[in-house]
Amino acid sequence: MKKFEFDRKKAEENLIKFRRDLHQIPEIGFDLEKTVKYVCSVLDEYGISYEKIVEGSAVVALIDSGSPGKTVGLRGDMDALPIKEETDLPFKSENGNMHACGHDCHTAILLTTGIVLNENKDKWSGKVKLLFQPSEEKDGGAKPMIDAGCLNEPKVDFILGQHVGVLSGEIEIGQMGFVPGPMMASLDEFTIDFIGQGGHGAYPHDTIDPIPMAASAVLALQAFMSRRVNALDSAVFTIGQIHGGSQYNIVPNKVTINGTVRCLNESVRKLIAEGCERICKSTAESYGGKAEINYKFGYPALINDTELTKKLIDLSKEAFGEESVKRMEKASMGSEDFAYFAKEAPACFPFLNTSKECDGVIYPNHNPKFMVDEDILIKGVDYFVTAVGNLS
Ligand SMILES: [Zn+2]
Ligand SMILES: [Zn+2]
Repeated sequence: MKKFEFDRKKAEENLIKFRRDLHQIPEIGFDLEKTVKYVCSVLDEYGISYEKIVEGSAVVALIDSGSPGKTVGLRGDMDALPIKEETDLPFKSENGNMHACGHDCHTAILLTTGIVLNENKDKWSGKVKLLFQPSEEKDGGAKPMIDAGCLNEPKVDFILGQHVGVLSGEIEIGQMGFVPGPMMASLDEFTIDFIGQGGHGAYPHDTIDPIPMAASAVLALQAFMSRRVNALDSAVFTIGQIHGGSQYNIVPNKVTINGTVRCLNESVRKLIAEGCERICKSTAESYGGKAEINYKFGYPALINDTELTKKLIDLSKEAFGEESVKRMEKASMGSEDFAYFAKEAPACFPFLNTSKECDGVIYPNHNPKFMVDEDILIKGVDYFVTAVGNLS
């Protein structure tokens, strides 16, 4: 492996400055006016060319080493959450939003990586695309970027991302954790209306009662999960809401259930979607009613390329020490729209544990007291530049 040497002190100064600047201007979804302006101003300052896509909410920068080789895509998401920050940081946000998932760190790591690669073109070959993505937390910005052609011309041969924060109990603070293969789950949402015919609670025989319909279906769905899904396949079926009725002596017209399905592979995902529809329809029909199903397929499962990930585990161990890198055993049932990028090219997406206490407690991502140990972030840059130096 080629060790990628660079001016670490300067890179760390940049990294922390970018992170703190971005932390103070958290924006939501695709409305990232200030954030995009900031990213572009840094790219301009360092002479890195870029274009804006997806109505100006995404930025794709291209760095050419000048020597032939592969093209590596590096992705950083830029959006924040509608959470009021409760830390005491001198650079805390005051606008009602918060970078409580660490995407300020992802953007800062990507900017710093771009600068390091741009200033050290003799240490790598091929090209690098920096993909600054909007709206990971909401609606998904990866898919529209791909649809706008961000992975073509030049075509991206590998794509890498990463996530900071507190996302797995398997990695210690300061460790980067990799899972070769399925890493994060798909995210689907369903809403089912069980429709009967309401009436007087004293004369249920004159009604078609949707309450036992929904109750039977809820139990049948859980039985389906335990009987039809292979015990060795990970899948979650959660009903988060059930609504129906208005008064003790009225049989309602309708009961609605709403929930989420998380899976690590597409065939199980399909099996559950089909089973859910079949069970709800047939259960409703057996009671003389009907079920109307609205099943929304969201982010796919994030599958890391096994060979690439194993290679990056070895490279990262050499780059920042055996003790800082871990091959994790378990995937996460959380979701990430980096999954769409991972469907387009061999991909690798590790977790970097950057946990830091706030008032004596380590709070998770999406908490108003979420904190990041900034001293660990440089490993994110190490991971990217080492990969580029050895893959391209
Ligand atoms: Zn998040
Ligand atoms: Zn996130």
